[in-house]
Amino acid sequence: MGAVSEQTSSPRPRVSARLSAIAESATLAVDAKAKALKAAGRPVIGFGAGEPDFPTPGYIVDAAIAAAKDPANHRYTPAAGLPALREAVAAKTLRDSGYTVQPSQVLVTNGGKQAVYQAFAAIVDPGDEILLPAPYWTTYPEAIRLAGGVPVEVFAGADQAYLVTVEQLEAARTPKTKALLFCSPSNPTGAVYSPEQTAAIGRWALEHGIWVITDEIYEHLTYDHAVFTPIVRVVPELADTTIVLNGVAKTYAMTGWRVGWMIGPADVITAATNLQSHLTSNVANVSQRAAIAALTDDLAAVEEMRHAFDRRRRLIVEMLSVIDGFEVPVPQGAFYVYPSVQGMLGRTIRGVTPTTSAELATLILEQAEVAVVPGEAFGPSGYLRLSYALGDDDLIEGISRIQALLA
Ligand code: PMP
Repeated sequence: MGAVSEQTSSPRPRVSARLSAIAESATLAVDAKAKALKAAGRPVIGFGAGEPDFPTPGYIVDAAIAAAKDPANHRYTPAAGLPALREAVAAKTLRDSGYTVQPSQVLVTNGGKQAVYQAFAAIVDPGDEILLPAPYWTTYPEAIRLAGGVPVEVFAGADQAYLVTVEQLEAARTPKTKALLFCSPSNPTGAVYSPEQTAAIGRWALEHGIWVITDEIYEHLTYDHAVFTPIVRVVPELADTTIVLNGVAKTYAMTGWRVGWMIGPADVITAATNLQSHLTSNVANVSQRAAIAALTDDLAAVEEMRHAFDRRRRLIVEMLSVIDGFEVPVPQGAFYVYPSVQGMLGRTIRGVTPTTSAELATLILEQAEVAVVPGEAFGPSGYLRLSYALGDDDLIEGISRIQALLA
């Protein structure tokens, strides 16, 4: 008796379990390493960043300059977004996607990324399963887990052009399945679902009461005969159980301005707006004004950039395809190419024998001074993602170095 009560419990963790569980972004890890090499004076060429190399079109920048001078923009504005921008998003949705939404169904977010996070936060309860076609953009599983959900990967490899089928989705469906994440054109693969495939997936989701979170941020970047298909246009009954994610970043070369949005049924948008009202409030007014200028003008500047991406796309596919051990499906959208490099793993290159795509990416960075993102960032090992949203000269030089290293 009298002994000091035994404090056997371990000290309470400093960082919460929820945040400790977030994996370091492999994309950022590659980027950090590339930047460190660059800072040390090395001539590193980066295929890592998912952003256009073009400056934002001048008329958009001009609108922002004018907005910065207007004191009305120096104050808090409604958390859900400037009414004029919510109207512009509704009008743009009718123009580009062919169906009507009310401005009240639009929530303006701090980039598409916040829309991703808030969409899952709005509809996911602990234990809900979210079907996640893989390879997937690296942020989705983390946003799902932060909301308490369980990402369920449904993998489609290069042999099926990175497109999942209804049969695969059906095989992964359980009573706990709450939603499907749908991203077409896709980051990281550049795959684009056809109108028929999109409609089939939409009808399947509708039949089983599964929500669809559709990320349409690359809608304007499609090539050859591929077309972007808004899932709500081909299955209109889905409107009440669909959240559309979008933003100006990729279409208008506006990654740094941080304007995105989500569109959904009234109850979901209200819930997400309440969350945002505590989290970040309104998106910077100057950026919102710039976005209004972007969305209310025509798509001429976008078309010019798309032409440049298309040229680079064909060039990078051609140059990567000659590398023995690379299998290069021709991407139909976005600005990424996603070769399978399984045929390259296990070979010895300059005394190193990479057995994973992460090790291959490290070898390419260290030996060729070229930054690429390994498939591990987006699902299974065995792939590399290269963004071709960089200048033509850098593209040729960078891929030539990879060819020389791996030849
Ligand atoms: N969705 C996808 C598929 C993306 O690739 C990105 C950017 N990498 C985003 C959303 C978010 O873009 P942002 O936050 O810059 O608007």
